[in-house]
Amino acid sequence: FSPTPLLMIDTLTIPTQRTTASRLPEVDFDQLEFGKTFADHMLVVDYQNGEWQEPQIVPYGDMTVSPANSALHYGQAIFEGMKAYKNQDGEIFIFRPQDNLSRLNASAERMCMPAVPEEIFMQGLSQLIRLDAEWVPNFTGSALYIRPFMFATDGMLGVRPSDSYRFMIITCPVGLYYNKPLRVRFEEKYVRSAEGGAGFAKNAGNYGAAMYPTKLAQEEGYNQLIWTDASEHKYVEESGTMNAMFVIDGRLITPALSTSILDGITRRSVLQLAHDWGMPVEERKVSALEILAAHAAGTLQEAFGVGTAATIAPISVIGYQGEDFTLPTAPADAFSHRVTAALAAIRSGEATDTHGWMVR
Ligand code: PMP
Repeated sequence: FSPTPLLMIDTLTIPTQRTTASRLPEVDFDQLEFGKTFADHMLVVDYQNGEWQEPQIVPYGDMTVSPANSALHYGQAIFEGMKAYKNQDGEIFIFRPQDNLSRLNASAERMCMPAVPEEIFMQGLSQLIRLDAEWVPNFTGSALYIRPFMFATDGMLGVRPSDSYRFMIITCPVGLYYNKPLRVRFEEKYVRSAEGGAGFAKNAGNYGAAMYPTKLAQEEGYNQLIWTDASEHKYVEESGTMNAMFVIDGRLITPALSTSILDGITRRSVLQLAHDWGMPVEERKVSALEILAAHAAGTLQEAFGVGTAATIAPISVIGYQGEDFTLPTAPADAFSHRVTAALAAIRSGEATDTHGWMVR
């Protein structure tokens, strides 16, 4: 085992109001539906008068906001998604939390919101998850999903950056994500984001605007879309809310990052493992036609989405202009299977965490 950094910043102790009625006994951990069951506590910290105020941990529950809350009207709202895992010894580790903090703060900058200090983020996570440790499931594939988020709180209808904000962390236990192979289709009419837009940020509006085109594709029998670029609808951007990857002729190919693509932490981790294993990796533009040509030539070996929720979601069918192309079934030693197993082993503590991704 490699030494793991200990997530502890002793300078900050967050005042905690514990729940008097834990909901834990009511939870059926075998029947968890993603995002519906929340752990007992949440972190709340307000930003006012140009400063972050004292964070607090309080029982999970509703809150009041002004009806003129500017996040509701103009969408100054951002979020993150990450997971905590319990190993065989009951120790809890979070996967690459500093990367989520950096991305949160990149999103904050794009949306004219204040950066969340590392101390608040890390100590908030540490204390919150220690308090709700019993909510971290430990059966195969399960985790505690962590949702940090920030929104504008000015009750004022002017279209300008809010002066006040709230940063919060809520968590929910999640069970094994069933990776049913996905049917996807290239989207050539709607766009998720454009160069110069805010696609690289995890702001709420990106997700709201993606729902309608996704719904249309679902009505046609697909699970999700492969978004293409806004100017030519030629190049792959992302797959639903995951980064897209392809294995063509033994090479791992993924769209290069840009202002329109979210810099996924799973993407980063998968690319790192491919590098470690000596697999050729190409981060570049990849067009729908290139994918279809590779499929026709028999060199398209694998296609999959990568993200925190599913880790690796294999793609079995790709639709393009009304025609469906079925991918070959990936053999047991396919890259997507090996990388899924490798990430699972790092998370469970069975494999050495050589990159220091797991933070206690
Ligand atoms: N793209 C989009 C648009 C996403 O919402 C997500 C999920 N955060 C990802 C990619 C994957 O990112 P990550 O691996 O950090 O979860």
